[in-house]
Amino acid sequence: MKTTGPGQQGQPASRSTETPPASAIIASTSIGRFAPSPTGPLHFGSLLAAMASFLQTRSDGGKWFVRIDDIDPPRAQAGAVDSILNTLEGLGFPLDNSVKYQSQSTDAYLSALVQLNKAGTTYACRCSRKIIAASGSSIYPGTCRELELPTEDHALRIRLVDKSVSFNDRIQGPVSQLTRQEIGDFVIKRRDGLFSYQLATVVDDQQHGVTQVVRGADLLYDTLKQIALIELLGFNKPEFMHIPFATDSQGNKLSKQTGATPLDLSQKGPAGNSAATAYLLRAWHFLGQQHPDSSTTPAEFWAFAEQAWDPERIPMIRSKPCNTGPDH
Ligand SMILES: [Zn+2]
Repeated sequence: MKTTGPGQQGQPASRSTETPPASAIIASTSIGRFAPSPTGPLHFGSLLAAMASFLQTRSDGGKWFVRIDDIDPPRAQAGAVDSILNTLEGLGFPLDNSVKYQSQSTDAYLSALVQLNKAGTTYACRCSRKIIAASGSSIYPGTCRELELPTEDHALRIRLVDKSVSFNDRIQGPVSQLTRQEIGDFVIKRRDGLFSYQLATVVDDQQHGVTQVVRGADLLYDTLKQIALIELLGFNKPEFMHIPFATDSQGNKLSKQTGATPLDLSQKGPAGNSAATAYLLRAWHFLGQQHPDSSTTPAEFWAFAEQAWDPERIPMIRSKPCNTGPDH
Protein backbone atom coordinates (compact mmCIF):
# COMPACT_ATOMS: atom_id res chain seq x y z
CA MET A 1 0.00 0.00 0.00
CA LYS A 2 1.38 3.39 -0.94
CA THR A 3 0.56 6.38 1.21
CA THR A 4 1.74 9.90 1.22
CA GLY A 5 3.87 10.35 4.28
CA PRO A 6 4.57 13.11 6.72
CA GLY A 7 7.32 14.24 4.34
CA GLN A 8 4.59 15.77 2.20
CA GLN A 9 4.24 18.54 4.71
CA GLY A 10 6.75 21.30 5.15
CA GLN A 11 8.13 21.16 1.63
CA PRO A 12 10.57 23.82 0.51
CA ALA A 13 8.97 27.06 -0.64
CA SER A 14 10.39 26.60 -4.15
CA ARG A 15 7.92 23.81 -4.85
CA SER A 16 4.63 24.42 -6.60
CA THR A 17 1.87 25.48 -4.25
CA GLU A 18 -0.83 24.05 -6.51
CA THR A 19 -2.35 20.88 -5.17
CA PRO A 20 -1.70 18.04 -7.60
CA PRO A 21 -4.24 15.21 -7.97
CA ALA A 22 -3.83 12.37 -5.46
CA SER A 23 -2.40 10.02 -8.07
CA ALA A 24 0.35 12.50 -8.90
CA ILE A 25 1.27 12.82 -5.23
CA ILE A 26 1.71 9.07 -4.97
CA ALA A 27 3.71 8.89 -8.19
CA SER A 28 6.04 11.71 -7.21
CA THR A 29 6.56 10.84 -3.55
CA SER A 30 10.07 9.72 -2.87
CA ILE A 31 10.22 6.72 -0.54
CA GLY A 32 13.44 5.46 1.00
CA ARG A 33 14.34 2.91 3.61
CA PHE A 34 17.09 1.69 5.90
CA ALA A 35 17.08 -2.09 6.16
CA PRO A 36 19.34 -3.56 8.85
CA SER A 37 19.39 -7.27 9.54
CA PRO A 38 19.08 -8.22 13.22
CA THR A 39 22.39 -10.06 13.35
CA GLY A 40 23.91 -7.70 15.92
CA PRO A 41 23.86 -4.15 17.27
CA LEU A 42 24.16 -1.08 15.06
CA HIS A 43 27.74 -0.07 14.18
CA PHE A 44 29.27 2.90 12.41
CA GLY A 45 28.91 1.29 8.96
CA SER A 46 25.19 0.85 9.42
CA LEU A 47 24.83 4.42 10.69
CA LEU A 48 26.23 5.67 7.37
CA ALA A 49 23.56 3.85 5.39
CA ALA A 50 20.84 4.97 7.80
CA MET A 51 21.94 8.61 7.62
CA ALA A 52 22.44 8.77 3.85
CA SER A 53 19.14 7.03 3.07
CA PHE A 54 17.26 9.26 5.50
CA LEU A 55 18.74 12.56 4.35
CA GLN A 56 18.49 11.70 0.67
CA THR A 57 14.79 10.85 1.03
CA ARG A 58 14.07 13.90 3.17
CA SER A 59 15.86 16.21 0.77
CA ASP A 60 13.32 15.09 -1.84
CA GLY A 61 10.47 15.78 0.61
CA GLY A 62 9.90 12.05 0.79
CA LYS A 63 9.04 9.39 3.31
CA TRP A 64 11.63 7.18 5.01
CA PHE A 65 11.14 4.04 7.06
CA VAL A 66 13.12 1.31 8.77
CA ARG A 67 12.71 -2.27 7.65
CA ILE A 68 14.15 -5.07 9.75
CA ASP A 69 15.46 -7.75 7.40
CA ASP A 70 14.63 -10.68 9.64
CA ILE A 71 14.08 -13.50 7.18
CA ASP A 72 17.10 -15.49 8.29
CA PRO A 73 16.26 -16.69 11.83
CA PRO A 74 19.41 -18.84 12.16
CA ARG A 75 21.57 -15.71 11.79
CA ALA A 76 19.44 -13.45 14.01
CA GLN A 77 20.82 -12.44 17.40
CA ALA A 78 18.51 -12.28 20.40
CA GLY A 79 17.81 -8.70 21.41
CA ALA A 80 19.30 -7.22 18.24
CA VAL A 81 16.04 -5.72 16.95
CA ASP A 82 15.44 -3.80 20.20
CA SER A 83 19.05 -2.75 20.34
CA ILE A 84 19.02 -1.44 16.73
CA LEU A 85 15.76 0.45 17.17
CA ASN A 86 16.82 1.94 20.52
CA THR A 87 20.10 3.12 19.04
CA LEU A 88 18.37 4.65 16.01
CA GLU A 89 15.98 6.45 18.34
CA GLY A 90 18.85 7.63 20.53
CA LEU A 91 20.48 9.05 17.40
CA GLY A 92 17.30 10.96 16.67
CA PHE A 93 15.97 9.03 13.66
CA PRO A 94 12.18 9.35 13.47
CA LEU A 95 10.79 5.83 13.66
CA ASP A 96 7.15 7.02 13.78
CA ASN A 97 5.80 3.54 14.64
CA SER A 98 6.41 2.66 11.00
CA VAL A 99 9.04 -0.05 11.42
CA LYS A 100 8.41 -2.94 9.04
CA TYR A 101 9.59 -6.53 9.32
CA GLN A 102 10.45 -8.82 6.42
CA SER A 103 9.17 -11.77 8.43
CA GLN A 104 5.67 -10.32 7.97
CA SER A 105 5.89 -10.44 4.18
CA THR A 106 6.24 -14.17 3.61
CA ASP A 107 3.00 -14.30 1.57
CA ALA A 108 4.32 -11.66 -0.80
CA TYR A 109 7.59 -13.57 -1.32
CA LEU A 110 5.60 -16.70 -1.98
CA SER A 111 3.42 -15.06 -4.61
CA ALA A 112 6.51 -13.64 -6.35
CA LEU A 113 7.94 -17.13 -6.35
CA VAL A 114 4.73 -18.54 -7.84
CA GLN A 115 4.88 -15.87 -10.55
CA LEU A 116 8.48 -16.79 -11.40
CA ASN A 117 7.70 -20.52 -11.36
CA LYS A 118 4.75 -20.02 -13.71
CA ALA A 119 6.94 -18.09 -16.10
CA GLY A 120 9.44 -20.95 -16.10
CA THR A 121 12.21 -18.76 -14.75
CA THR A 122 13.22 -20.95 -11.80
CA TYR A 123 14.70 -24.40 -11.37
CA ALA A 124 15.67 -26.69 -8.55
CA CYS A 125 19.35 -27.19 -7.75
CA ARG A 126 20.90 -29.99 -5.74
CA CYS A 127 24.48 -28.75 -5.74
CA SER A 128 26.06 -28.36 -2.33
CA ARG A 129 28.18 -25.33 -1.53
CA LYS A 130 31.18 -27.67 -1.56
CA ILE A 131 30.51 -28.85 -5.12
CA ILE A 132 30.11 -25.28 -6.37
CA ALA A 133 33.31 -24.21 -4.60
CA ALA A 134 35.14 -27.14 -6.20
CA SER A 135 34.22 -25.81 -9.65
CA GLY A 136 36.78 -23.08 -8.96
CA SER A 137 34.43 -20.18 -9.71
CA SER A 138 32.07 -18.20 -7.54
CA ILE A 139 29.64 -18.04 -10.47
CA TYR A 140 27.17 -20.93 -10.50
CA PRO A 141 27.75 -22.74 -13.82
CA GLY A 142 24.11 -23.83 -14.32
CA THR A 143 24.77 -27.50 -13.56
CA CYS A 144 21.13 -28.31 -12.70
CA ARG A 145 19.46 -26.07 -15.30
CA GLU A 146 18.10 -28.83 -17.50
CA LEU A 147 17.71 -31.61 -14.90
CA GLU A 148 14.10 -30.82 -13.93
CA LEU A 149 14.66 -31.84 -10.34
CA PRO A 150 11.71 -31.80 -7.92
CA THR A 151 11.48 -28.54 -5.98
CA GLU A 152 11.10 -30.30 -2.63
CA ASP A 153 14.30 -30.50 -0.59
CA HIS A 154 16.23 -28.50 -3.15
CA ALA A 155 17.29 -24.90 -3.46
CA LEU A 156 15.52 -22.86 -6.14
CA ARG A 157 17.57 -20.80 -8.56
CA ILE A 158 16.57 -18.09 -10.98
CA ARG A 159 17.00 -18.96 -14.66
CA LEU A 160 18.64 -15.87 -16.09
CA VAL A 161 18.41 -15.05 -19.76
CA ASP A 162 21.72 -14.40 -21.43
CA LYS A 163 22.12 -10.63 -21.47
CA SER A 164 23.70 -7.67 -19.76
CA VAL A 165 22.15 -6.10 -16.65
CA SER A 166 22.99 -2.52 -15.86
CA PHE A 167 22.08 0.58 -13.92
CA ASN A 168 23.42 4.07 -13.42
CA ASP A 169 24.37 4.59 -9.80
CA ARG A 170 24.00 8.12 -8.46
CA ILE A 171 27.51 7.97 -6.94
CA GLN A 172 29.33 5.02 -8.46
CA GLY A 173 28.29 5.72 -12.06
CA PRO A 174 27.33 3.07 -14.64
CA VAL A 175 27.51 -0.54 -13.40
CA SER A 176 26.84 -3.60 -15.54
CA GLN A 177 27.47 -7.33 -15.71
CA LEU A 178 26.67 -10.19 -18.05
CA THR A 179 24.07 -12.48 -16.51
CA ARG A 180 25.52 -15.85 -17.46
CA GLN A 181 29.25 -15.13 -17.27
CA GLU A 182 29.42 -12.68 -14.36
CA ILE A 183 26.28 -13.08 -12.25
CA GLY A 184 25.18 -16.69 -12.68
CA ASP A 185 21.80 -18.22 -11.79
CA PHE A 186 21.45 -17.34 -8.11
CA VAL A 187 19.42 -18.89 -5.32
CA ILE A 188 16.06 -17.28 -4.56
CA LYS A 189 14.80 -19.89 -2.10
CA ARG A 190 17.20 -21.89 -0.01
CA ARG A 191 17.08 -25.61 0.54
CA ASP A 192 15.99 -24.99 4.13
CA GLY A 193 12.93 -23.16 2.78
CA LEU A 194 14.11 -19.62 3.57
CA PHE A 195 13.76 -16.92 0.92
CA SER A 196 16.95 -15.32 -0.30
CA TYR A 197 17.95 -11.77 0.56
CA GLN A 198 17.69 -10.82 -3.14
CA LEU A 199 14.09 -11.96 -3.57
CA ALA A 200 12.89 -10.60 -0.22
CA THR A 201 14.47 -7.20 -0.82
CA VAL A 202 13.04 -6.78 -4.29
CA VAL A 203 9.53 -7.82 -3.22
CA ASP A 204 9.60 -5.60 -0.13
CA ASP A 205 10.83 -2.56 -2.01
CA GLN A 206 8.05 -3.00 -4.56
CA GLN A 207 5.44 -3.63 -1.88
CA HIS A 208 6.33 -0.46 0.01
CA GLY A 209 6.76 1.68 -3.09
CA VAL A 210 10.46 2.34 -2.45
CA THR A 211 11.71 4.76 -5.10
CA GLN A 212 15.32 5.10 -4.00
CA VAL A 213 17.70 2.64 -2.45
CA VAL A 214 20.66 4.20 -0.62
CA ARG A 215 23.15 1.76 0.91
CA GLY A 216 26.79 0.74 1.08
CA ALA A 217 28.80 0.06 -2.09
CA ASP A 218 29.57 -3.44 -0.78
CA LEU A 219 26.10 -4.25 -2.16
CA LEU A 220 26.78 -2.80 -5.61
CA TYR A 221 26.78 -6.18 -7.34
CA ASP A 222 23.84 -7.50 -5.35
CA THR A 223 21.95 -4.66 -6.97
CA LEU A 224 22.52 -6.20 -10.40
CA LYS A 225 20.96 -9.47 -9.19
CA GLN A 226 18.06 -7.51 -7.79
CA ILE A 227 17.59 -5.63 -11.05
CA ALA A 228 17.54 -8.95 -12.92
CA LEU A 229 14.73 -10.05 -10.59
CA ILE A 230 12.91 -6.71 -10.87
CA GLU A 231 12.90 -7.10 -14.65
CA LEU A 232 11.63 -10.69 -14.51
CA LEU A 233 8.87 -9.73 -12.07
CA GLY A 234 7.88 -6.57 -13.95
CA PHE A 235 8.45 -4.40 -10.87
CA ASN A 236 9.35 -0.71 -10.75
CA LYS A 237 13.07 -0.06 -10.71
CA PRO A 238 14.12 2.28 -7.86
CA GLU A 239 17.02 4.70 -8.17
CA PHE A 240 20.22 3.47 -6.59
CA MET A 241 22.86 5.34 -4.64
CA HIS A 242 25.75 3.31 -3.22
CA ILE A 243 27.75 5.25 -0.66
CA PRO A 244 31.35 4.29 0.22
CA PHE A 245 31.42 1.66 2.93
CA ALA A 246 33.55 2.06 6.04
CA THR A 247 36.63 -0.10 6.55
CA ASP A 248 39.01 -0.66 9.46
CA SER A 249 42.68 0.27 9.18
CA GLN A 250 43.39 -3.06 7.44
CA GLY A 251 40.84 -2.34 4.74
CA ASN A 252 38.24 -4.84 5.99
CA LYS A 253 34.63 -3.78 5.79
CA LEU A 254 33.12 -2.91 9.15
CA SER A 255 30.41 -5.46 9.71
CA LYS A 256 28.69 -7.35 12.46
CA GLN A 257 30.34 -10.50 11.13
CA THR A 258 33.83 -9.07 11.57
CA GLY A 259 33.01 -7.78 15.03
CA ALA A 260 32.62 -4.06 14.28
CA THR A 261 32.38 -2.05 17.49
CA PRO A 262 28.73 -1.40 18.34
CA LEU A 263 27.67 2.24 18.68
CA ASP A 264 27.59 2.98 22.40
CA LEU A 265 25.43 6.00 23.11
CA SER A 266 26.23 5.93 26.82
CA GLN A 267 29.80 7.11 26.17
CA LYS A 268 30.75 10.75 26.45
CA GLY A 269 31.59 12.63 23.26
CA PRO A 270 34.11 15.47 22.97
CA ALA A 271 33.42 19.12 23.80
CA GLY A 272 30.32 18.39 25.83
CA ASN A 273 28.58 16.67 22.91
CA SER A 274 26.63 13.53 23.61
CA ALA A 275 28.03 10.34 22.12
CA ALA A 276 25.02 10.31 19.78
CA THR A 277 25.89 13.75 18.40
CA ALA A 278 29.55 12.80 18.05
CA TYR A 279 28.67 9.69 16.04
CA LEU A 280 26.32 11.70 13.84
CA LEU A 281 28.99 14.32 13.16
CA ARG A 282 31.53 11.67 12.32
CA ALA A 283 29.17 9.92 9.89
CA TRP A 284 28.30 13.30 8.35
CA HIS A 285 31.99 13.99 7.82
CA PHE A 286 32.66 10.53 6.42
CA LEU A 287 29.97 11.23 3.83
CA GLY A 288 31.88 14.33 2.71
CA GLN A 289 29.38 16.82 4.11
CA GLN A 290 30.23 20.27 5.41
CA HIS A 291 30.66 20.44 9.13
CA PRO A 292 27.90 22.12 11.09
CA ASP A 293 29.19 25.01 13.18
CA SER A 294 27.85 23.50 16.34
CA SER A 295 25.53 20.70 17.31
CA THR A 296 25.06 19.70 20.87
CA THR A 297 22.04 17.46 20.47
CA PRO A 298 20.91 15.07 17.75
CA ALA A 299 17.84 17.27 17.18
CA GLU A 300 20.08 20.25 16.47
CA PHE A 301 22.24 18.15 14.18
CA TRP A 302 19.28 16.90 12.14
CA ALA A 303 17.80 20.37 11.79
CA PHE A 304 21.07 21.47 10.22
CA ALA A 305 21.70 18.28 8.25
CA GLU A 306 18.31 18.21 6.54
CA GLN A 307 19.01 21.66 5.10
CA ALA A 308 22.70 21.17 4.32
CA TRP A 309 22.70 17.63 2.86
CA ASP A 310 24.42 17.56 -0.53
CA PRO A 311 24.78 14.16 -2.25
CA GLU A 312 27.25 15.70 -4.72
CA ARG A 313 29.76 15.90 -1.86
CA ILE A 314 29.74 12.16 -1.18
CA PRO A 315 33.14 10.74 -2.23
CA MET A 316 32.85 8.78 -5.48
CA ILE A 317 34.73 5.78 -4.12
CA ARG A 318 33.73 2.28 -3.05
CA SER A 319 35.21 2.29 0.47
CA LYS A 320 37.00 4.45 2.97
CA PRO A 321 38.79 3.77 6.28
CA CYS A 322 37.34 5.27 9.45
CA ASN A 323 37.75 5.51 13.19
CA THR A 324 34.71 4.20 14.96
CA GLY A 325 34.73 5.71 18.45
CA PRO A 326 32.71 8.79 19.38
CA ASP A 327 35.72 10.59 20.81
CA HIS A 328 36.97 12.74 17.98
ZN1 LIG B 1 22.88 -27.32 -9.10
